[in-house]
Amino acid sequence: MQQCVNCRTPFSWKQVSKSLWLAYKPIACPNCGSLHKVQFLSRLLASIFMVIPIYAAYFFTQLIGPGTFLISVLVIMLSVILAIPYLMRYRLV
Ligand SMILES: [Zn+2]
Repeated sequence: MQQCVNCRTPFSWKQVSKSLWLAYKPIACPNCGSLHKVQFLSRLLASIFMVIPIYAAYFFTQLIGPGTFLISVLVIMLSVILAIPYLMRYRLV
């Protein structure tokens, strides 16, 4: 997980995911208050990861059979949502 660039306080999963859902809102460090912005590459990565579940689910449906598409999308989407905050990188504003 990303740490504060200034004081090395780790950000929480909740903090980072909240920033993602608020359109990559900058994160303020809970310890020293310095503001962190999402790096452009992380932003790109996040948008790619949001699209992947749909393609992956389509692929699984071809393998397992119809009727599993929606469940596959939900399961993969959920794992992506859980994992993305660990992949995001921030820099000082
Ligand atoms: Zn800090």
